[in-house]
Amino acid sequence: MPPTAPNASTPPRVLVSACLLGHTVRYDGGHCANMHAILQRWLQAGQVIAVCSEVAAGLPVPRPPAEIVGEGGGKAVLEGRACVQDRLDTDVTAAFLAGAYQTLELARQHGAQVAVLKNGSPSCGTTRIYDGQFSGNLVDGLGVTAILLARHGIRVFGESDWAEADACLARLTGESR
Ligand code: SF4
Repeated sequence: MPPTAPNASTPPRVLVSACLLGHTVRYDGGHCANMHAILQRWLQAGQVIAVCSEVAAGLPVPRPPAEIVGEGGGKAVLEGRACVQDRLDTDVTAAFLAGAYQTLELARQHGAQVAVLKNGSPSCGTTRIYDGQFSGNLVDGLGVTAILLARHGIRVFGESDWAEADACLARLTGESR
């Protein structure tokens, strides 16, 4: 089901990974705040919805780093063909799935049709994720939340793609830039 259209009187909402907003939600207790001008404009306009699937699912901060284990990235996790494990070999698949579905629900509540997520994460990764061996190597693939949002019609961008996300938002809402 596609996201609900936003109310015409409210600015279009954009989901943004909370760690990109400076929230200290990363596994290591840190953040990766991004100061891009487009994000600052969205923030000033009240368009940004902060999301962190892992914290939403009840995982603590800090927490052991986790990676998708098995071929196929987040898509395979959604389909039960791969799992998410943390560095202590604990299976955290259920939490990652729960967080992804909570994020999708939040998007629907706010009518968000665009998301900018932190690439490389097993939840938020938009084009790249770690290889499942805690080797530090990245491979092609999407995180669990990113693929779930994309499957439900939300346009997902990484933190290097602010201009593309902004143009997409303008197209969807009929605004000119
Ligand atoms: S789940 Fe997403 S928002 Fe939360 S810390 Fe990881 S990359 Fe950032």
